[in-house]
Amino acid sequence: MQDLSAYNSFGLHVRAEDLIMIHSVEDLKKVPGGQVLILGRGSDVLFTDDYQGTVLVNDIRGLQVEECGDDYLIKAGGGLLLDGLIEDLVARNISGLENLSAIPGTVGAAPIQNVGAYGMEIGQVVESVTFYDLDRRCAGSFDKEQCEFGYRNSYFKKHPERRLFITEITLRLTREFKPKLSYHGLEGHIFETPYQLREQIIALRRKKLPDPKKVGNAGSFFKNPQVSTEKAQDLKKIYPDIPLYPQADGTVKLAAGWLIDKAGCRNITHGRAGTWESQALVIVNRGGACPHEIVALAKYIVCEVMNRFSIILEPEVRIYGARGEVSWNSL
Ligand code: NAP
Repeated sequence: MQDLSAYNSFGLHVRAEDLIMIHSVEDLKKVPGGQVLILGRGSDVLFTDDYQGTVLVNDIRGLQVEECGDDYLIKAGGGLLLDGLIEDLVARNISGLENLSAIPGTVGAAPIQNVGAYGMEIGQVVESVTFYDLDRRCAGSFDKEQCEFGYRNSYFKKHPERRLFITEITLRLTREFKPKLSYHGLEGHIFETPYQLREQIIALRRKKLPDPKKVGNAGSFFKNPQVSTEKAQDLKKIYPDIPLYPQADGTVKLAAGWLIDKAGCRNITHGRAGTWESQALVIVNRGGACPHEIVALAKYIVCEVMNRFSIILEPEVRIYGARGEVSWNSL
C-alpha cells in the first residue's frame, strides 16, 4: 500500500493500493486497467477510506507562451502548480490570472472544479483543455463550450465516469493589463503591474486562510449557496447585515462562511477537526484527525446551518471512498 498523506492537503493518513507518477502521455498509455483515481496534488479532496485501486498523480510539466494578435496563448502542462504558473506569467508581465494567486493545486485540476477567487474563474480564460481518455486509450480536446463551466463545476466534474486525464490546458490572456477589482480588499486600489495585484491577493489570502503546508485543509469545504430573491429578502429582514450577491440568473449568492459563523460554528473543534478562526468555511485538521472526524464536523455544520437558516450546504470538496468518488448524502 502507498501512503497518500502527501497527496491530500487535509494530511489524512490514508493509503492506496498503488501510486503512479504521470510525467507524459506516454506514461498514460502504459497505465494498467482496473480502478484508477486521478489526482493533482489532492488539494480539493477528502478521502474517507484507503483507496482500493491505483492513484495516478499528474506531473506533466511544460509551458509554452505564444503571441496571438492582442492576446497570449498559454499552453501549460496539467501537472504544473497553478500558483507556480501564475508566478511565472507575472514575472513575464503577462496578466489575467493574478486573482487566482495562492490557490493550491495543479493546472490540470483547475478546470475540473472551475476554480475561482476574487471575482474570476479559470473557465473565463480557458481556450481549450487537452486530455487522455483512459478508457478509449486516445487523446482528445474540448473547447471552452464543451467544458461546460459553471460555479465550481465543469463537464469533467459532472462526468467522472469518463476518466479523462487532463494533460494540458490552453489559456487565452489579453496583453492589456485589466485588473479585476470588484472584491473587498481590491476596490479603490491602483495596481500598476500584475505583480502588485498578485502580491495583494496573496496578502489577503494569508490573512484569512490557513497554509495547507502547516495546517491540513482543503480550502472552502462548502459551496456558497444560491437562493431565490424572496428567500434572500426574508433573510435580510431577520439578519440586516447578511451579505447578498445578486447573480445574473436571478438567484442571490450567500456567503457560506458567514452562515457558518452565524450558526455558531466558527473556530470550533470536534475531536481533532475544527473550523478556521478567520474563515469558518475552511475545515481544518487540527493534528492527526481521521476522515470520520472531518465528515462528522462537516455534517454537524450542515445541521446547524439548516436549523438556523433552512439552507442546505453542499460540499465543494470531492469525496473519495475505497472504490472511488462517493456522494455526500451517502455518508
Ligand atoms: P469573503 O471576502 O469573506 O467573502 C465571502 C464570500 O462572499 C466569498 O466566498 C465570495 O463568493 C462572496 N463575495 C465577496 N465579495 C464579493 C463580491 N464583491 N461579489 C461577489 N461575491 C462576493 O471571502 P474569502 O473567504 O476572503 O475569500 C475570498 C475569495 O477567495 C473568494 O472569491 C473565495 O471564493 C476565494 N477562495 C477560493 C477558494 C477555493 O478553493 N477555490 C478557497 C478559499 C477562498 P465567491 O466564493 O463566489 O467568490
